[in-house]
Formats: sequence, C-alpha cells, structure tokens
Amino acid sequence: VAEDALEVVKSVCPFCGVGCQTEVSVADGKIVRVDGRDGPANENRLCVKGRFGYDYAMSPRRLTRPLIRRDDAPKDAVLDMSKDVSELFREATWDEAMERAAKGLVEIRDADGGGAIAGFGSAKGSNEEAYLFQKLIRAGFGTNNVDHCTRLCHASSVSALLEGVGSGAVSAPFMDAEKADCVIVIGSRPTVNHPVAATYFKRAAKRGTKFVICDPRKQDMMLHAEHSLQFKPGTDVAMLNAMLHVIVEEELYERDYIAANVSEFEALKAKVAAFSPEEMAPVCGIDADELRAVARLYATSERSIIFWGMGVSQHVHGTDNCRCLIALALITGHVGRPGTGLHPLRGQNNVQGASDAGLIPMSFPDYVPVTDPEARARFEDAWGRPLDPEKGLTVVEIIDAIHAGEIRGMYVMGENPAMSDPDQNHARGALAKLDHLVVQDIFLTETARFADVVLPASAHAEKLGTFTNSNRQVQMGRPAIPMPGDARQDLELLIDLGKRCGMDWDYAGPAEVFAEMASLMPSLTGISWEMVEAEDSVTYPLDGDTQKWVIFDQGFPTKDKRGKLVPADLVPPDELPDSEFPMVLTTGRLLEHWHTGAMTRPSDVLDALEPEAMAAMNPGEIARAGLSAGQQVTVETRRGTITATLRADRDVADGMVFVPFCFFEAPANMLTNPSLDPFGKIPEFKFCAARVRSG
Ligand code: SF4
Repeated sequence: VAEDALEVVKSVCPFCGVGCQTEVSVADGKIVRVDGRDGPANENRLCVKGRFGYDYAMSPRRLTRPLIRRDDAPKDAVLDMSKDVSELFREATWDEAMERAAKGLVEIRDADGGGAIAGFGSAKGSNEEAYLFQKLIRAGFGTNNVDHCTRLCHASSVSALLEGVGSGAVSAPFMDAEKADCVIVIGSRPTVNHPVAATYFKRAAKRGTKFVICDPRKQDMMLHAEHSLQFKPGTDVAMLNAMLHVIVEEELYERDYIAANVSEFEALKAKVAAFSPEEMAPVCGIDADELRAVARLYATSERSIIFWGMGVSQHVHGTDNCRCLIALALITGHVGRPGTGLHPLRGQNNVQGASDAGLIPMSFPDYVPVTDPEARARFEDAWGRPLDPEKGLTVVEIIDAIHAGEIRGMYVMGENPAMSDPDQNHARGALAKLDHLVVQDIFLTETARFADVVLPASAHAEKLGTFTNSNRQVQMGRPAIPMPGDARQDLELLIDLGKRCGMDWDYAGPAEVFAEMASLMPSLTGISWEMVEAEDSVTYPLDGDTQKWVIFDQGFPTKDKRGKLVPADLVPPDELPDSEFPMVLTTGRLLEHWHTGAMTRPSDVLDALEPEAMAAMNPGEIARAGLSAGQQVTVETRRGTITATLRADRDVADGMVFVPFCFFEAPANMLTNPSLDPFGKIPEFKFCAARVRSG
C-alpha cells in the first residue's frame, strides 16, 4: 500500500500501563502498521507488543454475533476447549440477547436483592466504560460487588498507599528515574513487563544513576545495577526492615522532614530495632554488608525513587511489603521532589484509570469509601438512586460467594477470571454454578464459555475513549478500524443493558460520560474531554494550568496532611515447601504475551515468538532432578496439575519453578494459592509449594 494511501490514526497502546502513544496506519479498514509517537511516556518508542501485537483485533476468532447458550450445552467446570462455539451457543439477534442478558440479572436482583449480583469490569476498557460499569452495578443493582483485575495486581499497593500517603496514585512518573541518583526496582521485571519504561531506566543507569534491583529471579536490569539483590522469595519484609534498621541505627533519616510531614516514627523505630541486617541476612539470603550498603546508598543519595511490581504486591504480606517501601521513602524524605517518590508500575493499560473511576468494591470514584455517609449521599444525589452502604466483595471473595450460593448472577466485561483467578478449578467451578452469566468480550474467552449470554464487543483499536497510564496521564484512544460483523461498542452495550435494567440513561457518547466523571472526581478537576482530545495526554491533578507530574510536594492528602508509618512484621507465605511439594512455584508474564493471553495469543507475530506453554527452572536444578530441558513435565500443587515444556533458565533460582499465566494449554492458575492478603485482598500468586515431574 502506498504511504499516501494510508489513513493514520493517533492512539495509545492497548497493552501495558506504560501508555505509549501510537500512530496506527490503516488501509482498507485493516491495520497495516503501528509506529510509536512522541508521547510523554515513550518518545516514539514501542516494544514488541505495541509494534507487532495489533493483529489480534483483526483475528478471524473475533466474536461477531450475539450468542445465547444452547439448552443442551451444560456448564461443565472442566473446560473442553475443543468444543466448537456452535456446540455451546446459538446465534441470536441483538434484541433477544440484550433482553435475555438484562432479564436474568433483574430477576435475580428482584428475587434475592442486589447482593446476589456481581460485576467484573476491565482495566483494558476506557475510563468511561469503567465508570459506567461500576455505576450500573452500584446504582442499577444496588450492590458494591464490583471489581476488576487490579485486585490481582496492585490491590495491596493501593491499600498501603491510601493508608500511608492518602493516595493510591504514583507520586512521580517513571521517566523521573533519569532525575534520580538512586533507583530501587523491586519485584518488577521492567524489560519484560514495562519494556519502554525500562528504556528510561537503562538510559538513567548509563548516565550515572545507581540502580538497586531486588528480585528473587535474576533479570536483565541487573546488568545495569550497582547492587543486585536476588533475595529468597517471600522475604521482602525481612530485607526491607533490615534496610530501615540501618537507616534508623545510623541516623540517616531526615529529622526535619519527619517532624514536619510524618507520623508514627517512634513505632517504626521500635519495630525495626529487631531487624538488624546480621539477623535478617540468613532469612532473606542477602549479605548483611550489602543490606547496609544499599540502605546507605538509598538514604544518602540526594534523590532516590522506588519502583515496584507484582513481585511485591502478590503475597499474603503484599500490603506489609508496600508499607516498608513507603517507610523507606517517608523517613528519608525521598518523596514530593522530582527524581524521588513511590511508583507501583501498573499492569494493564488502564488499570490506574479503571481504579480511579471506581471499579473497586470499597470505594466510589476517586477512592471515596462507600461506607462514608456524606460521600454516599453525594453519589446518591448525583446518580438518583439509593446506594449500598456496605463494602462489596472482591474478586476472590465473589468466587467464594458463588460457591456459597450467595451470588447467583454476574456481568463480566473484558475480564477472564477462568484464566486469571487463583485456584482455577475452584474459580471455574463457581462460573459453572452461576444461574446467569453475561460476558461481554471480543473473543470467546475461557470465561465466556461459561456464559448464558455472550455480547460481542469492541477491541481497543475500534473505540474512542480515555485511558490513564501508570504516570497518571489521561490519554486519548481513537478508533482506527471498524468492528467485525455485528459487534457493538462496549459503551453502547453498557448503556443499552443499563436502560433494560431500569436506568434512565441517554448518554450520547464517551465525552458526556467523561464530563459526568470529571464533575464527581476531584482528581480530574479542570480536565475536560476537549483538553485530552486536543493535547492527547493530560497528567492529573492540575494545579491551576500546571499538570503536576510530581505530587506530595505540599504534604499528603490525608486528614492531618502527614504521611503515616505502619510498621510491618514478618508474615510467612501461606504455603511453604515441604517433603511432598519441595519447590516454590512463582507465576508471571512474558515479554510477548500479555496477562491471560486473550489478546496476544491470537496475534500471529507474538504467538510465533512464544508459541508453547512452558515451565522454567534453573539448569542446575533440572540436572539434579534428572530432567532435561525441552521435555514435557507436570507441575503439580495441592490444587491442580498442568503439563508444559521444561525450559532451562538461569534467571530462576534453585528450588523454584516459574510458570507464565498466559497459556490456556497449561494454565498456571490451576496451581496457584487463593490465600489473600488481609488488607488488599490480593491472592498469593508469587509463592506456593509445588513439585515437578517428568511427563
Ligand atoms: Fe505497549 Fe507497554 Fe510496550 Fe509501550 S511498553 S508498546 S505501552 S506494551
């Protein structure tokens, strides 16, 4: 196709929270190329997913017609992926499908109350979709049982940040690594999971910023690091409290900053006194001298910043891990200035925005607690409906409540709990048990196979809406190609379903929804749809006309304007290795495949790069176990078994096995432990006992 025949659409990447801006070239209604644009978070760069993963939207596997479950197609908890769509569903008209979808939910609500309904929205959708989804569940069904995949990635980070500094948002963008003298990256593999953010990190290292990389698995960023701490899995608090101990013992903390801005310092001092590096070294596996050196480097550098990922958050002590990171920043005054701060690197491209928009069970938009009577009255007034005064259930709690018979109906938009939830046999058993399940998606996902009604919806490249990246940058995603067949816009489906469930909705489109959101969310004060449309990226909050890339420079948004230290104790992983299951299983992502693989497995290029379900172990461990790289192995835990190809990987520590969770052929979450962090309610995906055998 001649260059001048291409239509070029400015948009954003549909995958990770980096939020790279893209230029999508289209010919004959098909995407032919994606290039990077000069966005604030990518400066023309893209990773392999953003550049080559666009073809999923044009996959012949896209859903194109509304589907209704056949009367003779039982919901079986054991998924038979070989079953063709026509064996499970029949095609329906839109009117029949929407009527069936709404009627089933309304009947359950009217018979058993709103608490018998739950909704999973999506961090892959736009802010407007997230906002409307949670509004439908809260105002239309009268329940706060609404959640999304943030529960599975950074719920513990948000819980600790809200408690410690009064805001779940990042305090500075990841580009600020280049302004820092010292950067700690912990529990995150940026070159794999946030590749373009990693380019800023590498450039910072080249210019002299000192990096400390903490990860139980080795990783590429360690090549650029001053200190590489390959600590024992599950011992984050031991390692971080040892660093806090050094900072307190050697009086490396910022006395004046603490006096003016921080509370509970005495309690922290008392707690970390028992965590000397010498005592914690055998616990976390890092030499005491190195722990002391890292603590001194972080505390005494002029500007230090901390980035973390799901290696920190996905533990039963995930909130405690984050409390330690917050304490490091607060007692050293490394927050509120360029090149300092706290930055949980977000997973999905809109997980920040979806959480801000209220797609979580304990808070209305902007993290206003649903239990706050004044706030609730404000939302009741705005939405014209009485609202549930109790916190709703979280993702894993909803699955348990289905098994208990308390939840009978669900609306799932763009999520895939049959792949993403821990202990999948349990999760799939729950989905099979529902009396009424409506799934709105672009593919017949593992979850959609349990549905009563399937609504074919819009891919990212087909929709108009705003998306908020990890840096708090609200960016415009624009439609580049038409939807296939009879598929409809997600927002249109939400509005239609809402009306059929009794909502008095006549939104003309996303701009009108955004205006309503902005009127209710102080974080968006001064930001209009037109501004995002014109500027392509607007960082919130605004201070007058200035976009605040760094926050907490004038105190914290807590009641007393102070950051709060919350000391953390040692809490062991929920399930430790034993003679029966002697290894530690950890799960995660691959560079080429995104989360459950729903979008990247249908991409020809990405699937060709990583086509095969695998489990990775250290070559030494493989030899000791009498196994060979390339052979089939079973990985087994107390919850299930999968079969995958064994890969030799020197990054994986002895005693560990790593399984990515993107392969439906060998779903890692068959194996994982559903035990929850008590605060963030996030499951312990990063640690459970396992064994690996031949065959
Ligand atoms: Fe997309 Fe993230 Fe890759 Fe950027 S780094 S191109 S946002 S997947």
